[in-house]
Formats: sequence, structure tokens, C-alpha cells
Amino acid sequence: MSKFWSPIVSRLTPYTPGEQPKISKLVKLNTNENPYGPSPKAIAAMAQEIGDNLRLYPNPDAEPLKLAIAKRHGLSPSQVFVGNGSDEVLAHAFQALLKHGAPILFPDITYSFYPTYASLYEVEYRAVPLAEDFTIRVDDYLGQGEAIGGIIFPNPNAPTGCLLALDEVERLLAGNPDRVVIVDEAYIDFGGDSAIDLVTRHPNLLVVQTLSKSRSLAGLRVGFAVGHADLISALERVKNSFNSYPLDRIAIAGATAAMEDDAHFDRTRNAVIASRSKLADELASLGFEVLPSAANFVFARHPQHDAAGLAASLRGDGIIVRHFTSARINQFLRITVGTDEACGALTDSLRKHLA
Ligand SMILES: *Cc1c(COP(=O)(O)O)cnc(C)c1O
Repeated sequence: MSKFWSPIVSRLTPYTPGEQPKISKLVKLNTNENPYGPSPKAIAAMAQEIGDNLRLYPNPDAEPLKLAIAKRHGLSPSQVFVGNGSDEVLAHAFQALLKHGAPILFPDITYSFYPTYASLYEVEYRAVPLAEDFTIRVDDYLGQGEAIGGIIFPNPNAPTGCLLALDEVERLLAGNPDRVVIVDEAYIDFGGDSAIDLVTRHPNLLVVQTLSKSRSLAGLRVGFAVGHADLISALERVKNSFNSYPLDRIAIAGATAAMEDDAHFDRTRNAVIASRSKLADELASLGFEVLPSAANFVFARHPQHDAAGLAASLRGDGIIVRHFTSARINQFLRITVGTDEACGALTDSLRKHLA
């Protein structure tokens, strides 16, 4: 606290990202990074971009990247917005599309950045409890008209990994025609059907995705949103009142090449999906309850062992996972799906601890 701080800064509770430890030997299964490297074509495109051209500003609209995303989904570039990580895209969306002077809705257990953006932009919210089995109950989000400011949720949800089926997403959209519904699909490539296919039918839908997870580019900071051109213009208006060049030349080149490399994308995500199913089976055989995951992590609890104790024991073996302390989920561990070798180190360590 300082007398120089504005009142809003004094009231903020900033988001706490998962730890990025300095020690490189750790088995790092705490922040849902992809264990496989980015597309070699993306790396080559970025290397190519490093030169005299860096004295010039990048394309303010990141046109090649918007085109690549639009092409992949059969859309027009006017239906695509890009930003410095999907976190930035989400932040702009709170300001541009969710702030209507009425509380927005999101699940009680969800991405913990949402309440942070809500406080930054002074948007009220109501946390809607997930069902007992940690799934989203669409009925709880229906019939509230303009008494709510909008709806946002991740699909698959984080940190549960649970997927809401596309027909249920559509029921939620159809039940809220006068408010924007944001579907945060950070993990959709690991096991669900994207709502991008619903964008043409539902002008109130904004789908947000990231290159951080399924494209292995967390370090590059690129995310995007897809929706009706009117929603995209709102985001552009905020972006152009904030930073004209959120993506640098290297990011535009690398992200464009990554979006165009289907072979690498399919190979790496299929490897993660295969490892996830092995990891879930192994954990179940150790007595864990594992929520069904459509993401690149699993969310699991052991009926007889305290989650904080398990996390500490893993850390003793150089393995880090994420443990959240909020009430309904404080007995769960969120474990990123690593390589089979990393997952094996995790299950070996747990087996030793449980014995
Ligand atoms: C990882 C994650 C993001 C943020 O991704 P970046 O593009 O790296 O900013 C957004 N939403 C959810 C639910 C995530 O898990």
C-alpha cells in the first residue's frame, strides 16, 4: 500500500500464476504447458523474422495470423481478434462485452483470473455452483435476460477438466440471446468439439482460444477470439485504445506458422491424449478419484490422503503439481499431462508415498 496508489489498485487481488521454478531438473506438471516443443516450422519462421526488420513496427492487425485462423475455421478475418495471450483477449472482453452494470455469471470453481478481471474492470459477478459431480448445470444460467451482464466459462472447465457437450453450450447460448456468452476454450483441442462452429448461428457467442497449450507456445504469448464481426469490433476498439501492437513481429510469424502446421499439431496433441488416459488409469489404480478430463491435465483426489501432503511429498521428489486451497477443491491435485516418462515419475513417487 502506498498513498500514491489509486483506489482501484488498492482494492485489486492480482492473479497468482503457477510457479516457474529456477531449478531445471524438476518434473514440472503444474502449469499445463505442453511437454512437446512447438512446430519446427514455427521456430524456423521466428528465426527468419530476427533481423533488420525488427526496427519496424509489426502489422498492427496481425493480418497473416488472422487469415490463418480464419482459414482454419472457414471464417472471415473480420470474425477474428488476436492478442498477447488469451489472458489479454479475455481482459479486453470483460471491458468490451461483459460490463453492462449487471452481475456476470461464471462457475464457482473455474479459472481464477475471472474474478481478477472483474475487480480490475469493476464488473460485479455471481459465482454459480457447479453440480456435485463438478459439471456445469446449464439450467442455472437460463432465463435471466438483461438482469445479468453476460456469462463466461472455460470449456473444458479449469481446473476440473470436465467438458460441457456442444448441444448444452448451444442451449446456454440460445437461452441468453441478449447477452454475450464467452466460451474460453484454452483446452478444447485435447478432447472436445469447439463452439467455433456455432459462431455463425449465434451472434452473442465469443470463443477464446490460445496457442499456449495445444500449440506449445506458452512462451510466445498468443491467443485469439472468434465471433460475430460486431463483437470483434468491440475488442478492436478496446485494443486500439490500449496498445496498437500487442503482437510483435516474431509472435505473428511464429503463431501463423504454428496455426498452419496441422501435422505437428495432431501428432503432439494425440500423444498428450494417449498419455492422459494412461495417467488417469494409473492414478485410479492407486486409489485416486479422477474426474473425467478433456484437457491436458487431470484433477484427482485420494479419499485417504490429504492433497497438501501429497503435493509436498511429490515436491520432495522434485515433482511439482498444482494444489488449490479453495473450499470445494482443496483435496484435489491438478496434474498436467507430461511425457509418459514424467507421468511415470509422478506415479512412482505417489506409489512410494502411499505404501
Ligand atoms: C491457460 C489458460 C488461459 C490463458 O492462456 P494464455 O493464452 O497463455 O494467456 C486462459 N484460460 C484458461 C482457462 C487457461 O487455463
